[in-house]
Amino acid sequence: MSITDIQALLEQYWGYASFRPHQREAIDAILSRRDSVTILPTGGGKSLCYQLPALLFGEATGIVISPLIALMKDQVDTANSMGIVADTYNSSLTPLEQKAVWERFSSGQTRLLYLSPERFAVPEFMETLQLSGRVAFIAIDEAHCISQWGHDFRPDYRQLSRLRDAFPGVGIHAFTATATPQVQQDMQALLNLRSPQVLVGDYERANLRYQAIERPAQRDLFLSELTRVMDRHPNEAGIIYCISRAEVDQLSADLSAQGYSALPYHAGLSDKVRRANQDAFMSESVDIMVATVAFGMGIDRSNIRYVVHTGMPKSLEHYQQEAGRAGRDGLASDCILFYGGKDAGFWYTTFRTLAPEARAVSARKLEEMTAYARTVICRQRYLVEYFGQPYAKKTCGTCDVCLGAHALLDGADLVAKKILSCVWRVGQDENATTLAQVLAGKADERLSARGYDRLSTFGLLADHSRKDIKTWVDQLVGQRLLLKEPDFGALRLSASGQQFLKASTNNEGSVVLSAPSASRRRQAIPQQHGEPPSGESYTRRSSSSRETDWEGVDMALFEALRACRKRLAQENSVPAFIVFGDDSLRAMAREKPTTPQAFLQIHGVGYKKFEQYGEAFLAELRGFLQEKIILNPSSPAYTKTNRGGGGGETPSTRPNLTREQVFTLLKTEHQTDQPLEPQVNQFAQKVGRTPSTVMKYLLEYLEVQQVTAPEGWVEPGAFSSVSRLVEVHGFLRMKDFHDLLGGSVGYDELRICSVLLKNRVAVMGAL
Ligand code: ADP
Ligand code: ZN
Repeated sequence: MSITDIQALLEQYWGYASFRPHQREAIDAILSRRDSVTILPTGGGKSLCYQLPALLFGEATGIVISPLIALMKDQVDTANSMGIVADTYNSSLTPLEQKAVWERFSSGQTRLLYLSPERFAVPEFMETLQLSGRVAFIAIDEAHCISQWGHDFRPDYRQLSRLRDAFPGVGIHAFTATATPQVQQDMQALLNLRSPQVLVGDYERANLRYQAIERPAQRDLFLSELTRVMDRHPNEAGIIYCISRAEVDQLSADLSAQGYSALPYHAGLSDKVRRANQDAFMSESVDIMVATVAFGMGIDRSNIRYVVHTGMPKSLEHYQQEAGRAGRDGLASDCILFYGGKDAGFWYTTFRTLAPEARAVSARKLEEMTAYARTVICRQRYLVEYFGQPYAKKTCGTCDVCLGAHALLDGADLVAKKILSCVWRVGQDENATTLAQVLAGKADERLSARGYDRLSTFGLLADHSRKDIKTWVDQLVGQRLLLKEPDFGALRLSASGQQFLKASTNNEGSVVLSAPSASRRRQAIPQQHGEPPSGESYTRRSSSSRETDWEGVDMALFEALRACRKRLAQENSVPAFIVFGDDSLRAMAREKPTTPQAFLQIHGVGYKKFEQYGEAFLAELRGFLQEKIILNPSSPAYTKTNRGGGGGETPSTRPNLTREQVFTLLKTEHQTDQPLEPQVNQFAQKVGRTPSTVMKYLLEYLEVQQVTAPEGWVEPGAFSSVSRLVEVHGFLRMKDFHDLLGGSVGYDELRICSVLLKNRVAVMGAL
């Protein structure tokens, strides 16, 4: 396969101009049937690595093993939306559906078949698959689940050890986002891979801005800190992770009460509610999901602009995976961790039921997590190094530490030496609480009984609070000078800790500790990314966040395109990101293509998407540009809306001006005895938006006003046709209504009918 062919497929199906790092090598390994391990961070583009080569094995099929049915479904939908025939064969299908899937596979139509690991527990299944001779390669997604040293061990994955022998001529390819070097080795060994090609992506996610904040004990203070973060991203998507279900319920209620568009998600909600809430988030009708980790894998909405944790997860692997859901499209996003003393205690209680070995692994991971929360070294560096990679830059320039949010302690090396030597004196067998007590010089019976009050290190840090000393201990653990044992938390010196202690001189600054809390003042982090360019906040962005994100983007047009995407997503019952990602919309609002040729050049526009959505978007673009010329040919100010601009205001206090204007026009100027369309066009001109935007607000208006009578809104004949259909079939997708009526009723009218009929059900309990 020549380079140009592979490149052509990338452009044709995905609409991308170039490969991301390691994608090309991963694809080559699959094409040459050489086993491989590919570790790319979340958002690194793993799926493309196995989806693309699946197009190049003739009638054979790429098998993808994936841990969750929900995850498979999204992947299958995404692949199909690009014109790649993909199926999943799992227990949620009816026998008839299973048969159809199998027939497509046996007749060579399927390019990708997603299977769960449980399938391979059935020897006959494995054998049938093998005998079919149709397997091109096997890709194992989330392959770290096979290792018990990983954070997501799944016993079902162990069955995959048998694949290597069962499929001799077939390449086996492991993919994961998070694997420490130990987990990486485990994966290779357990899957019996034959001298695999190993590709490890860069753990740096330069577009993510990390920050950790100690959670204020007072609820209202915490809420105001939280909403301050959220208000950096008005009208943008975010996930807020909570440790407990109760916290999810409470917080989503609190946020909704403050006017945020938020929904809860956790395993205690019924399947139906969960599904509905997830759909609302994926289709962009709701911006904020307040969730436990149950809202997890498979959430690949690419334009999530922030992920907040209201408490500490139990490992950095979890943190990295969850926070990593922000900014998959490569655009700047925030990852904020609120942490508190109680979080670790909570997790420890859940570890009690584990076997001793697993408990030790979990406890160590929790320690690493705590150390990250309290670290005063660059967070980007911390994460990259945790996953076993060197970090070459001096600073990431975007995390709270690099932005100088933490005042540092002068003379940290000396303080570190005092702490380390005290650890040595107490026999490397005491935890941080005792250690702080000794260093602060607070004797009690227990301490005296052990003779600690007679140590040379007793009271060595008497000027400091025990809380500060404990924080420093965590920071020294984070800098690998101290090691913390599980359970009791006994501290001992690491090899580098011993070296540090022995050295008579150190490079000043080799240890970093935070300034004592009394002298610390929380410094506000400058507002920066996520916002469209608007005055000061934009110019203050640091150089390593991507200034170009919003450069040249026509904000009003971007909004119009978003509305168009949402409408199409709802009509086709797919998540909005499947239509187009934010990066594509920004490119459209920047390049403003009006011809099919120009549109096909846009990042993320492949042939299938073009076929399906091209016309709708082109119409939106043409309408918008046309209208802009008529409206206000010269004013550049027109291209700016108030979206996110100016900072400060919150979504709840900043009214949506266009919506209000449209509502007022509908109330005061709409004439029921005149046809609707010209009126909509007229209103659109008045408010300076496209007719489709006005139509969107009109639908909202009808819903808010609970209008049930068609007069003035839609032709009564059309209304009764739709009403009859609803009686027979229920509420269908717009496309189905459209087809069943032979195209005689337009989409806008169908949408109006649908709202009116839903209002009827709501108001009168029947049609
Ligand atoms: P992962 O599974 O590694 O978390 P995905 O496969 O979901 O990542 O890809 C993340 C995002 O990056 C998706 O929106 C995907 O379409 C996009 N992407 C993947 N490869 C490329 C590429 N070569 N150029 C641009 N975008 C890409
Ligand atoms: Zn940094």
